[in-house]
Amino acid sequence: MDPYTKENYAALPELLLPWYRQNRRDLPWRRDREPYHVWVSEIMLQQTRVEAVIGYYNRFLQVLPDIRALAEADPEQLHKLWEGLGYYSRVRNLQKAAQQVMADHGGIFPNTHAAIRELAGVGPYTAGAIASICFELPKAAVDGNVLRILSRIMADERPIDKQSTKDAMAAALEEIYPIGSCGDFTQALMELGATVCTPRGPKCEACPARAVCRAYAQGRAGEFPVKSPKKDKRIEQKTVLILDCGGEIALCKRPDTGLLAGLWELPNVPGHLEAEAAMAEAARMGAEPDRPDWMVERSHIFTHIRWEMRAWRILCTRKAPELVWAGPEELREKYALPTAFRQFFDIGAEK
Ligand code: SF4
Repeated sequence: MDPYTKENYAALPELLLPWYRQNRRDLPWRRDREPYHVWVSEIMLQQTRVEAVIGYYNRFLQVLPDIRALAEADPEQLHKLWEGLGYYSRVRNLQKAAQQVMADHGGIFPNTHAAIRELAGVGPYTAGAIASICFELPKAAVDGNVLRILSRIMADERPIDKQSTKDAMAAALEEIYPIGSCGDFTQALMELGATVCTPRGPKCEACPARAVCRAYAQGRAGEFPVKSPKKDKRIEQKTVLILDCGGEIALCKRPDTGLLAGLWELPNVPGHLEAEAAMAEAARMGAEPDRPDWMVERSHIFTHIRWEMRAWRILCTRKAPELVWAGPEELREKYALPTAFRQFFDIGAEK
């Protein structure tokens, strides 16, 4: 039997809307329904916690208050505004999409689901969120939070990472979108997933959807959602060189495609090198290494890859001309350095 019978879902809007209107958190992007604001917030919130996003969001809008400003921004400035948020392709796509809006829609954010979906970096979730919140269209925004809620409410055993499960849940949800309150319904589901029906330890006793929740009725909330077994991440070992010449640190730029495309990085080579080999690498890069100072090992996890990094701080007496050298203020203000590398400066401050 198709588990997506309407009965369990149909009561959700009337249960969730009053609860949401009373309990919603006051977040900066909820103060209006301006598509630019909702869009930027939704892109920032992908893979990132609300608390971490608020400061970035406020700063981003201060510097780039509208779509035109974003479309015309200097890519270096964009990377700097995004520094530390990770998944940098998000901000590059934001700008591409802003340029699309300027070129194809006269600078006005499109108001149909199909046109929103065509913007760079906008997948089904983001398109559903913007369409429902900004334009009151009955389009679901199905992310991990919503999948978790629905799989618990239906006690659905199908893995939520399967596209077929996502499609079935989105279609079932769209059938019950309450006309006139579509935006609030989308946000009510997001809010429930973030504050009540959380991944671990859902607060069922305080949940407005408890009366229709099968997992709760069966005492099995902790068993959902079901996920497919995880694939192992690929491990890459690297030696990172923190070349320090009179307080200036060497940087280089990553290639324009692939992981962390176009961002700045500390020079690095594959494998884990000992001190002598690390010094030889510094010399090969054109610097004049004097002595190794300290070494630490740290890892950084991306979606599919884990970097296991051994970082050598090497004091140099001559700068390599082919590398860019930056002092503390430039490192802070000018160059966008991914967290994978920036973590070594915190270590440097502790040493
Ligand atoms: S009753 Fe519990 S498991 Fe069911 S939706 Fe509410 S919080 Fe989630």
